[in-house]
Amino acid sequence: MSRLVLTLEALEALKSTFASHDEETCALLFGRAVEVGGRLARIVVREVWYPKDDAYLKRSPVAAQLRPEVVAWAAQRSRKTGESVVFAHSHPMEFNSFSKTDDDGEARLKAFLDRRTAGTIHAALVISPSAMKARILGTEVDLRILGVGPTLQISDSPARDIDNELFDRQIRLFGTLGQQVLSRLRVGIVGAGGTGNPICQELAHLGVSRFLLIDPDTVERSNLNRLVGAGPRDVGARKVDVTARLIHSINPNANVETSATSVLLAAHAMELADVDIAFCCTDSQGSRAVLNQLAYQFLVPTIDMGVAIVANGEKVSRIVGRAQMLAPGLGCLVCGNLLNPEAVRVDLLTEFERRADPYIVGAHEPAPSVISLNSTMASIAVTMFLSAVAGIPAKARLVNYNAVNGTMRPGAIPPHSGCYVCAREGSLARAGEWPLPARLI
Ligand SMILES: [Zn+2]
Ligand SMILES: [Zn+2]
Repeated sequence: MSRLVLTLEALEALKSTFASHDEETCALLFGRAVEVGGRLARIVVREVWYPKDDAYLKRSPVAAQLRPEVVAWAAQRSRKTGESVVFAHSHPMEFNSFSKTDDDGEARLKAFLDRRTAGTIHAALVISPSAMKARILGTEVDLRILGVGPTLQISDSPARDIDNELFDRQIRLFGTLGQQVLSRLRVGIVGAGGTGNPICQELAHLGVSRFLLIDPDTVERSNLNRLVGAGPRDVGARKVDVTARLIHSINPNANVETSATSVLLAAHAMELADVDIAFCCTDSQGSRAVLNQLAYQFLVPTIDMGVAIVANGEKVSRIVGRAQMLAPGLGCLVCGNLLNPEAVRVDLLTEFERRADPYIVGAHEPAPSVISLNSTMASIAVTMFLSAVAGIPAKARLVNYNAVNGTMRPGAIPPHSGCYVCAREGSLARAGEWPLPARLI
């Protein structure tokens, strides 16, 4: 299902503004439609505009209509900027769907906008005290509403049958509703190696059934010490295929799409605009930089993780792990000073530029990697995911693990005002208005 996405802060503000009026209330949301593979993946809302009282033609507890000049202004803006307009209104009387009046009004709006803003997708959103619904303007095509912040607010959609017996022990923790959310989400995993592979295993056991796996690498013999479900016969196979097989061994009905590509290429990174939440399980600084910005720019909440084993010669001095959620309201990897600009620069060079670059000497020495440490951080990341989507009370959105001391500590990275990634002046919710810091070729 395509999505209508806005920051959790904007969604909460919209709901509380609507709730503060006994009369129907309108708002216009401006954002950008993002297509993946030729179909709408999401509309990313960047701005919410609230009409003043005199912008209404009529307004009562059961109806509200904006003046034609307000609609004409919105159409004009959309025509100039290419933005999508989301026509939002409240149903204070607890009518949890679009009404016949809404259908008729939207049909007229759609006809008007089709003439003024041909080719641009617009949407409608209705919020009642206990539900919210969105659809492509003037159609029956529903959109999933996502409010993205440290937690995800996800609109209701037709309940799926879930296997109460299979999931009995976890439903006792996060309820049938939490289990239904897991079964509906499409989850992106970037990197199907040391941490991405055990994350997929855990997600499949939890009942996640829709996956997008991205990793360009094939299995080498030296990977077999830490790839769950892989054996000697898999050497040479694509990591995404080995991990897809692992998921299917747990849930034969899972929908697993694989992409043996690199998110260093903008076109492949953009496939993630069609997931609800992502895990960043790559060990490259370049792909981290791309996913960091994609998380905020396209409002794709992402849980990033890594393990570092630092050795000076023979002696290991540090064994540390980090799991961190990247979403509006939480500081990004740039705010946390967690990206090495030179390493990012080198990762984002094209092959041609790489050969010509005088500063790259030889290949990297492979880093140590051990299954127990990877799995520890994978589990922390999955628990963070459960907290964000299914409401289990695990509050930390940054966890630092120190294996040498045996400690696990929560942390927090405040978002820096003016950050070019996570601040509003930066890439936040700009979607296709800005390019991603990824390669085009
Ligand atoms: Zn209505
Ligand atoms: Zn930032």
